[in-house]
Amino acid sequence: MDIGFHCFHSLLKRSSAAVLTGFVFHSCGNFVSMADKSTFPGFATDALHVGQEPEQWSSRAVIPPISLSTTFKQYEPGVPYSGYEYSRSGNPTRSCLEKCLASLEGAKHGLVFSSGLGATTTMIHTLKAGDHIVSIDDVYGGTNRYFSTVASKFGVEVTFCDMTNSENLRAAMKPSTKIVWIESPTNPLLKLADISALADIAHQQEGVTVVVDNTFTSPYFQRPLDLGADLTFHSISKYINGHTDVIMGCFMTNSDDLEKQLRFLQNAIGTVPAPFDCYMVNRGVKTLHLRMREHMRNGLMVARALETNPRVTKVIHPGLESHPQHELALKQMKGFSGMVSFYIKGGLKEATLFMQSVKVFCLAESLGGYESLCELPSVMTHASVPPETREKLGISDSLIRLSVGIEDGDRLVEDLQTALQIAVPM
Ligand SMILES: *Cc1c(COP(=O)(O)O)cnc(C)c1O
Repeated sequence: MDIGFHCFHSLLKRSSAAVLTGFVFHSCGNFVSMADKSTFPGFATDALHVGQEPEQWSSRAVIPPISLSTTFKQYEPGVPYSGYEYSRSGNPTRSCLEKCLASLEGAKHGLVFSSGLGATTTMIHTLKAGDHIVSIDDVYGGTNRYFSTVASKFGVEVTFCDMTNSENLRAAMKPSTKIVWIESPTNPLLKLADISALADIAHQQEGVTVVVDNTFTSPYFQRPLDLGADLTFHSISKYINGHTDVIMGCFMTNSDDLEKQLRFLQNAIGTVPAPFDCYMVNRGVKTLHLRMREHMRNGLMVARALETNPRVTKVIHPGLESHPQHELALKQMKGFSGMVSFYIKGGLKEATLFMQSVKVFCLAESLGGYESLCELPSVMTHASVPPETREKLGISDSLIRLSVGIEDGDRLVEDLQTALQIAVPM
């Protein structure tokens, strides 16, 4: 029995999370992943086929063509043959992707944008000066920067709120509140917010839109719209594309009104992605279900291994019983991605040496690709967060964030353990 196998066996025995995705352990010693049976029914079939119907093309192309033309012939002035006029307002390759992504969140509508932040910017343009946003405090660094330094210039007010206790939202809301911006799990501390409890509180006030940034979990393991959110947001640049080669963002919704507003702004502001990128994401999303199962498996294996390592002071992963919101995780998520954070023994010196010593993990920003990455939030992704806020949140120089990829799990564990040995002498 090799090391990886042994780790996985004990991991499964100990983690109730394993039950969630239906990993079955057979007496013969083989694992059978039945993940798709216990996640959202039809997910893989939709990812492969929705929006991709060959009948929509005269050539009956099985794979949606990359439609590069910026303009489309009209039959008479103002009457296009195809429904497409100009590629900013609509593009066939983009439409295929939007339909496919909507299906993955069980949503009626999907809209894609030039980046995650492009999508956020577009959404905030539904507001006017004097309107108020309540945002989760541990929000993605770039979202924080956009809210507090750009949107604020146009008179949009923002309050950052610790939403681990849902009641805090009630206190933070004002009559002018128009958007409640939630992220769960958060980055890099993997704190959870109770999406349905927060949506209930927010919706007690007329005209409040609840947005959930679902980037860290992907629609394969969590569907905020089912939990009461009005909009699901993703940085497609992460898990959905999964190949670390496209920057894109999206919103999914069941609301015809929100779709109409965002569709208008997508064209009016021009935050649209290129057809080639839409093709790339269409391709990447076809393996989302397969990748997420592997990310979950490896993420849990790494978290378990780090938890018993004396050179690590604390591991954060919502699938661990030690996570303060483990119960909530089991309630609202169907599984976990490959995101793991941990505190190394020591400080900046040890953390730096650790990250220079890993060989399979790559020291780089971003997350959600098939390859394993590690980074130091205090210096890299969260450097723009004020030091006092970082300290309050617990983003110290010994906090390391891992995006565990889909390489061999035992090799990943070995890589981390070797680097820890080099970085923290004992
Ligand atoms: C990366 C990221 C974003 C921003 O998306 P971009 O595609 O980089 O513009 C927003 N939220 C989260 C959680 C992210 O990880």
